[in-house]
Amino acid sequence: MSKQAVLVVGGAGFIGSHMCTLLDAAGYAVIVLDSLVSSRHRAAIPGVFVEGDMADSALVERICRQHRIDAALHFAAFIEVGESVRDPAKYFENNVIKTLKLVEALRAASVDKFIFSSTASVYGLPGAEAIDESLPVKPINPYGMTKLSIEQALASYEQAYGFRSVRLRYFNAAGADPEGELGECHDPETHLIPLILQAASGRRDHIKLFGDDYGTPDGSCIRDYVHVLDLCRAHLAALERLNAGLPGDVYNLGNGGGYSVLEVVEAAREVTGCEIEVRREARRPGDPDVLVADAGKARRDLGWTPEYGLRDIIAHAWRWEQVLCAERGAPAQGTPLR
Ligand code: UDP
Repeated sequence: MSKQAVLVVGGAGFIGSHMCTLLDAAGYAVIVLDSLVSSRHRAAIPGVFVEGDMADSALVERICRQHRIDAALHFAAFIEVGESVRDPAKYFENNVIKTLKLVEALRAASVDKFIFSSTASVYGLPGAEAIDESLPVKPINPYGMTKLSIEQALASYEQAYGFRSVRLRYFNAAGADPEGELGECHDPETHLIPLILQAASGRRDHIKLFGDDYGTPDGSCIRDYVHVLDLCRAHLAALERLNAGLPGDVYNLGNGGGYSVLEVVEAAREVTGCEIEVRREARRPGDPDVLVADAGKARRDLGWTPEYGLRDIIAHAWRWEQVLCAERGAPAQGTPLR
């Protein structure tokens, strides 16, 4: 039997590249479409690689027909909350307009299964200990608004056109391939764990703590960090759900436990054995104080249980940080903890 062909849009990015490896290992034929605007993993990903824009309808339709694409996974989004506040047009253009064009091209090519990377940012300021999917969605930043717009479009496309989709609301994606082949590498980097590890390795001399006056026990924001491989395993389960003919749905993906920024720094000091200097700064616009998942629905419907906790996430990301340092010809040289 021939392999099921899946299109991975944004397959050269952080989560997309890990997804390609997992899909390949699971026996899917992987076809990647990536514009390479913010990706580095071109060389490391399996399958067929096409460089191009997801809004290029003719290209998407051609790829789908040529490779008999049966389902698509979409990772090609801009993801920085702070930047989305400063430059919302960039986010609405890419994350909404281009994504809708992609979906239209898929529909034109008779692809009717879609996995969408959404975000906990759709909940805004949920004010609950653990967030489940029944809570109201009220994003407080343009990034979350763009993701919610697509979720809503997809839900109505499923009703009207039978274009089935699983919308996965990630909490804080982090970690790296434990073998050190792939990892997070945004430029500029804005995410907490890679920045902390750059401070540990000596690539930067400190990290900024954005706000120490939130309504949390130590005043810093609390987030639910989830390993990239756990996220990818959830996508695989979501794809299997659609393959089994079941309807699309929306799921939270998180570990169900929250850590403050200062707790993450402390855990990173312990894992790396290196000093990490923290400088307190003003709040970053658009940041809610606490975001922690109740991922019970994903556990029940997708059989998904995350394998990795915060320390694994940091340990794997630390290995990757050492790969990045070595690539720059400057091995990690942090200051050992006293
Ligand atoms: N954060 C921070 N300093 C940084 C980067 C992030 O204090 O240099 C905080 C940020 O305000 C948030 C948390 O760390 O509370 C996680 O931020 P990140 O950008 O990693 O992910 P987000 O929650 O925005 O998706």
